[in-house]
Amino acid sequence: MEQKLKELEQQALDAVEAASGLKELNQVRVSYLGKKGPITEVLRGMGKLSAEERPKMGALANKVRETIAEAIETKNHELEQAAVLKRLEEETIDVTLPGRPVTMGNRHPLTKIIEEIEDLFIGMGFQIAEGPEVEQDYYNFEALNLPKGHPARDMQDTFYITEELLMRTHTSPVQARTMEKHQGKGPVKIICPGKVYRRDNDDATHSHQFMQIEGLVVDENITMGDLKGTLELFAKKIFGADRNVRFRPSYFPFTEPSMEMDISCKICYGEGCRVCKQTGWIEVLGSGMVHPRVLEMSGFDPKKYTGFAFGMGPDRIAMLKYGIDDIRHFYTNDVRFLKQFAVQE
Ligand SMILES: [Zn+2]
Repeated sequence: MEQKLKELEQQALDAVEAASGLKELNQVRVSYLGKKGPITEVLRGMGKLSAEERPKMGALANKVRETIAEAIETKNHELEQAAVLKRLEEETIDVTLPGRPVTMGNRHPLTKIIEEIEDLFIGMGFQIAEGPEVEQDYYNFEALNLPKGHPARDMQDTFYITEELLMRTHTSPVQARTMEKHQGKGPVKIICPGKVYRRDNDDATHSHQFMQIEGLVVDENITMGDLKGTLELFAKKIFGADRNVRFRPSYFPFTEPSMEMDISCKICYGEGCRVCKQTGWIEVLGSGMVHPRVLEMSGFDPKKYTGFAFGMGPDRIAMLKYGIDDIRHFYTNDVRFLKQFAVQE
């Protein structure tokens, strides 16, 4: 029996030594030390031994078990260590490898110009107001002194959704909605940036969708002097202190009197060139004193309150400021075009 146990011990130790992985080692453990293992089998034969031999064999069997268990434990530790080392080796970082370039986005030129204009007016105490792009005929036209059948409606080719619903043709409905909310009490001092829609054939200067920023001030004692001062400051801040402005009479249904503002040509400074079509001036925006009828429709008393309004196209402003010759560049999203504005951030 002693011989048998010694043999088993040697076999087990060989098997432990030969195990190449944790799984294999566990199999060795189960097969030699388990309840159905050969050592247990040998010990079953103890009954046949003499009383003297029995404790001796018992002790020997325990020792064999211990030796095997220890060997397994040692081997287990070795294998675990080896696995860790192997993983470390595989995950080595090559610090000399060049990094992958991180691509940075930049703001769209229209976003930039709108934010610049917003900041300027916020600095003058204006608040930003927004409204829906799908608008009611009432706010887009009627509340702005453009009743149904008014000939000036044709100035704005409109995308109608239903008889009473349309894609707003300008951001003026935001003015009408804001005035209505004020319930006849001033002051109102807002700018409204947003997308507007017209039934236009797209070309270098027209798009069926473009941006607009409108401004509105309503309070007691607002005069045309306030209008001119505000817009002149705007022009000089956005286009440069060396640019001059002039106002020309014009017509808009929602203002009376109405004016357009021009700035002096950046290229020729008023001398006349190809860019300004030899006039020396470039048209920038429309403006005027709020029509008494518009004030009235929005609940303001035109005897007590006056106001001015203006509207401009940030597309056009950006084209003038950055020298862009085609409005479609803003909407076709060619990355090569958009990237040019990254350097100016
Ligand atoms: Zn010019």
